[in-house]
Amino acid sequence: MACIAIVGAGPSGAAAGRHLARRGHAVTLIDRARFPRDKTCGDWLTPIALAELAQLGLDEPALEARVPGHALVQRTTLVSPDGRRSEQRSTRPGRCIRREHLDALVLAQALHAGCTIQQRSVRRIDRRDAEWDGYDLLIDARGAGSARANAVGLRTYWTVRRHPDTEALADEVGLHTDATHRRGYGWVFPVEVDEQMLTFNIGVGLWQRDSQPGATVHDYLARFLEQNPVTRRLAPHRLGETRRQGYPVVLGGWHQDVVDDGVLRIGDAAGLADPLTGDGIGNALTSGRLVAEAIDRACAEGRDLAGAAARLWRRRHAEHLAPELRRALLLRHLLVSTTAKNLATAALDRGPAGWRERLHGAVFGSAGYGALWSRASPAIRALAP
Ligand SMILES: Cc1cc2nc3c(=O)[nH]c(=O)nc-3n(C[C@H](O)[C@H](O)[C@H](O)COP(=O)(O)OP(=O)(O)OC[C@H]3O[C@@H](n4cnc5c(N)ncnc54)[C@H](O)[C@@H]3O)c2cc1C
Repeated sequence: MACIAIVGAGPSGAAAGRHLARRGHAVTLIDRARFPRDKTCGDWLTPIALAELAQLGLDEPALEARVPGHALVQRTTLVSPDGRRSEQRSTRPGRCIRREHLDALVLAQALHAGCTIQQRSVRRIDRRDAEWDGYDLLIDARGAGSARANAVGLRTYWTVRRHPDTEALADEVGLHTDATHRRGYGWVFPVEVDEQMLTFNIGVGLWQRDSQPGATVHDYLARFLEQNPVTRRLAPHRLGETRRQGYPVVLGGWHQDVVDDGVLRIGDAAGLADPLTGDGIGNALTSGRLVAEAIDRACAEGRDLAGAAARLWRRRHAEHLAPELRRALLLRHLLVSTTAKNLATAALDRGPAGWRERLHGAVFGSAGYGALWSRASPAIRALAP
């Protein structure tokens, strides 16, 4: 049994805590926030993220019982800069749950498994500091703030009246690209559905290097809310809008070392958000599970626990997470120009249905990029094996 401190009790830290505690390890979670706390996010849970939640004791019936009224997503839509839409009915539905609720649920599962929690802010995680005496292993799960962020997201919530125009969007997640923001996109995701009202999470994400005068993330969101055909459809029924909130994202950081001076990094702190879409909850949860497996195995080896845990976590990251992140990054490079996005969306509509299903499955996280890659040409596969 090992004694482990995890700094950050978001999805990655709490998932790691739960998996470790259930294996009999002594886990202290440390977070500066008091839960339930909000986290700026699109709130979209891919089917892959839902499968990880089920392994934490939060299967779909449990989510329905514990967060009534959250949105079940049956359709995915990609919109190109020329306004063309590619729609796909999901073979595996996803869900949208406000992070305030989701993260509190995951943390509760960790505490239920035996983790303890301290509410305090940690200045630095350095094994040499006396603060960490008594712990065998340290995990950094502090999110994007502890890594080098290269993108930023900004979102708001719109509550709208039920009406045929708004109800038609209540089970659909849509990603909208445009000609100005090369690597960015806007999203409209339903989060809450009740008898009278619907709530949508609407936001934009932007790589920092695409930001320029007139194209900052605030300009982008303002334009998206005013001019996008979907937001224009919602606008006449709007009852309220929340404050616009931003947060950094680390995209495409798969090449970073996931061990820093003996500290194991997971989730956004390891740069694991998808570099094409910015989705990171699924990989945060997966990294929590994989790091727990690595630590457990290292304990079984019986010597040099820190060295073995670092080696085994690096190996699991390289085998299970890095290939998918590399493929997403390559796809993003291929789809950076307006022409490429327009052509790709047109081809999806005209091409075989299998391709559309696989691309939607990769982008919206029901099958991962591997299924798409298995059908790609050998030249593309060689670029991101
Ligand atoms: C605008 C936006 C939209 C997004 N939309 C989606 C989406 O729709 N779907 C999706 O899958 N992903 C989305 N993501 C990404 C997703 O939010 C992250 O990948 C996910 O939150 C990563 O989880 P984590 O546990 O690694 O980090 P976090 O969720 O950030 O948790 C980190 C925790 O560490 C704590 N902490 C930080 N610093 C300290 C410190 N010094 N001391 C103590 N505690 C500390 C924080 O309080 C926090 O609780 C989005 C991101 C942004 C910014």
